[in-house]
Amino acid sequence: MLKLTGREKGALFFEGVETVALLILINVALIVIIQTFIQSNPGLASGIFIIKQSLWFGPYHTQIWSYQRIVIGIFIVIDAWVVWWRLRRRYHQYQMDHILAELHYIAQGHLDHRIPFRLKGNQQHVITSVNALVDSAVQSMNDERQIEKSKDELITNVSHDLRTPLTSIIGYLRLIEDKQYHSEEEIVKYAHIAYEKSKQMKNLVEDLFEYTKVQQHGAPVNIMTVDLSQLLEQVSASFELEGQKRGIEVTSITEPEPLKISADPEKLGRVFSNLVSNALKYGNGASYIKIEAHQHGDQVQIQVKNDGTKIPADSLSHLFERFYRVESSRSKATGGTGLGLAIVKSIVDLHHGEVTVTSDDNETAFTVTLPVEQPTTTSETKIDK
Ligand code: ATP
Ligand code: MG
Repeated sequence: MLKLTGREKGALFFEGVETVALLILINVALIVIIQTFIQSNPGLASGIFIIKQSLWFGPYHTQIWSYQRIVIGIFIVIDAWVVWWRLRRRYHQYQMDHILAELHYIAQGHLDHRIPFRLKGNQQHVITSVNALVDSAVQSMNDERQIEKSKDELITNVSHDLRTPLTSIIGYLRLIEDKQYHSEEEIVKYAHIAYEKSKQMKNLVEDLFEYTKVQQHGAPVNIMTVDLSQLLEQVSASFELEGQKRGIEVTSITEPEPLKISADPEKLGRVFSNLVSNALKYGNGASYIKIEAHQHGDQVQIQVKNDGTKIPADSLSHLFERFYRVESSRSKATGGTGLGLAIVKSIVDLHHGEVTVTSDDNETAFTVTLPVEQPTTTSETKIDK
């Protein structure tokens, strides 16, 4: 509840006294005017006398009617109402002043402050709205900060990941330039290392480009009807050779076939290439990679499964974070950047779908769920003028 200051209480009291004094003056003046009017008007005076007489009764001639009493009674009622009205108005004004003072305090940068008191009626609406406004302003500032922070992190990670291969490229090229080699084989070896590292850098830049492209707000998606069975067939075919080299069989099954969905074929292809290439890279000791697609009503579920090394349970929840790589695969020569699954998630999000992962000793499975029909977006329904 709002507490008035001593000064305000004083002012309120003074206003009350002042109003009462003024009203008494007005009342006295009015009574004098009325009495003068009655006395100067004999007809009216005798009329009142007759009415008075008719209302006398009982042995003591008790008078139950007196116009003075009535007039004074009416005055008292009116006066009380005026005093109450003026004091209430002044009290509301003080409430408003308090709200304004709180607003100024918040505007000065005390954003964790909220208007602490509760009032009745409309004023409470003002307070609730102000508090809600401050809440949402603070929320959007925090969101902004979070985005800023995550951008900084991205830049830090990228610069680090670019610097490491770049340092070794420069190192090996300098060896060649300074003629610090003993045979032609050595030159070839150094050049080869520099070449491999350059490819690694190119991969990172490409991944990063892809990632920022799908992350952008309102990223363009080129939705069309896609035959999922054909798309998955193509993906599995493109990894067949590499699979054979490692003794891993790559297969794809679609049910029903053909299975038509609306999606961006290029982006969707990227999703499954990333998942299959991960399964090849990290599924140590795997014997198969299966891509299985099934339709369930208005949804399709596509799983990329492989046997092989299990992903540690505490890593599962982080896999889709950008730059996250399971500890054991960091040191390996697989040379990933940790953006692959972040790209997968962003593309699936763009398609209003969901991607999850499970992993146990027998099998690791990435499950992508997509709606068969994409909800029409405003950009698609936009009519050319
Ligand atoms: P990039 O794909 O950008 O080249 P990356 O493959 O390391 O790099 P992600 O694709 O995001 O990055 O994968 C993140 C991590 O998840 C990998 O480093 C790996 O440790 C783990 N991982 C992903 N898929 C599998 C899988 N099928 N089996 C085991 N581990 C996996
Ligand atoms: Mg990957």
